[in-house]
Amino acid sequence: MGVQPLYLEPRLEERLRSLLDSPGLLHTLIDALGSPLHVVVPDQIADNLQRFRSVYRSHRLSGQIFFAHKANRSSALLRRLAATDAGVDVASLGELQHALGAGLTPDRITATGPKNPEFLWLAARTSVTVGIDSPGELAHLAAVVRRHALPPCRILLRLSGFETAGVRILSRRSRFGSPARESASLLDAVERHRDVVDLVGVAFHLDTTSLDEKAAALEGCLRVLEECRSRGLRPSAVDVGGGFGVGYVADGGQWERYTTELTAAVLGTRPPLAWGGHGYGLRNEGGTLRGSLGLYPAHRPVAGARYLDELLASPAASFGGRPLAALLLEHLYDLHTEPGRALVDQCGLTLARVLEVRTQQAGGELLVRLEAKADDIALEDHGVLVDPVVLPREATRPGPGPHPVAVHLFGSLCLEADLITRRTVFLPRRPEPGDLMAFTNTAGYCMDFHATRAQHQPVGRKIAAWQDGGSWRWCLDDQYWPTTSVGGAQ
Ligand SMILES: *Cc1c(COP(=O)(O)O)cnc(C)c1O
Repeated sequence: MGVQPLYLEPRLEERLRSLLDSPGLLHTLIDALGSPLHVVVPDQIADNLQRFRSVYRSHRLSGQIFFAHKANRSSALLRRLAATDAGVDVASLGELQHALGAGLTPDRITATGPKNPEFLWLAARTSVTVGIDSPGELAHLAAVVRRHALPPCRILLRLSGFETAGVRILSRRSRFGSPARESASLLDAVERHRDVVDLVGVAFHLDTTSLDEKAAALEGCLRVLEECRSRGLRPSAVDVGGGFGVGYVADGGQWERYTTELTAAVLGTRPPLAWGGHGYGLRNEGGTLRGSLGLYPAHRPVAGARYLDELLASPAASFGGRPLAALLLEHLYDLHTEPGRALVDQCGLTLARVLEVRTQQAGGELLVRLEAKADDIALEDHGVLVDPVVLPREATRPGPGPHPVAVHLFGSLCLEADLITRRTVFLPRRPEPGDLMAFTNTAGYCMDFHATRAQHQPVGRKIAAWQDGGSWRWCLDDQYWPTTSVGGAQ
């Protein structure tokens, strides 16, 4: 009756691997601070930044890398970033205040996303660059600057709905940004408000993994920049947003095998692979596979800085097929990027204690209940499927050697839907109450973005950890400053 495991082992770089190799410390932390517990590793964000920088260097491009703050609320990550030369992209009043308080000066901040009057005022008051979403927002900003006699505000025009030279529309619809084809009326408005706004450039952010869509958008932005120059405006930058992605699963073969078997499970040619026969977007209609897999491509050989590299090397059809990077360089445009998820790749993990392990039916999967809510470990919300790492309470366990088990992971809410993942998870050995499960690479959107206080259960605490010589040290996230970590910025 042996279980045929389908593993999706996480991609782990040196720091997270080293942290997982310190189970004694992690157990002590959970004992002291409760479950769940988020651990962020600030020095990693500085390393990730360097990878992006080296892509800029290899294409001889200048410009700024703005961390999209919404990916993680952590103070430690932001303060560590303040000790580098990076910027931050803020999307709310609170995020702007947080960035200013972490030591990021206004020249290193862009304000994007939906804005309320207070957010707009503080952005203009402190002279951060404002990403303008619509003609209405431009008019609103201009009015704020005039009414309060503020200095002219630096703006980027966010565009969307790019069309290729032909009729085929490549970029998907977005609720954000002004349609690129209406750029003329938008630029008219910029000229009307010339006394109070200063056009820095144009921007887009597309939530897609498709390189072609992003390349078409960047090309579209270059055309709008030409239009600006022909009007005598002097824009200097193009901001390509974020969405560079992260590889969560190490082994492409495991991912291939898993998705193939999931398809078979939906078609009923193998036992189910998810709670309640869930198909992650796939369904069986009379023996025919329908729908499409609604999952994050968990194994991504080209993600993060490498994705940016490929984007920059993409040819621009309406500019004689020349690479996008060459066109940016020719006009000496600054390239701005706003990576969120990719900049916090490998920057943290979430720990949860195993409370209960039981069998519901003989020979069936084990039901494992964790001391955490699904909202605390939001990988599933983002369609990310990846295995947790089990850290046994006892380093050596008596009894027969390990053999694989199939489990379902439940959260601690009194709610049928509180599943950490609907997927059947395979583990190399049966977990026991008191063990820890470490969900790696949760720093991008999976720690605090969805966290709730449902049922008066606490939101997981967050700590920062860093390596000092051969050992790990830590403090509460809010206590961390770059002066704290001896191994980090001085
Ligand atoms: C969310 C967001 C980003 C970051 O996206 P990632 O996929 O996390 O890289 C960047 N720019 C804007 C405007 C965003 O809304």
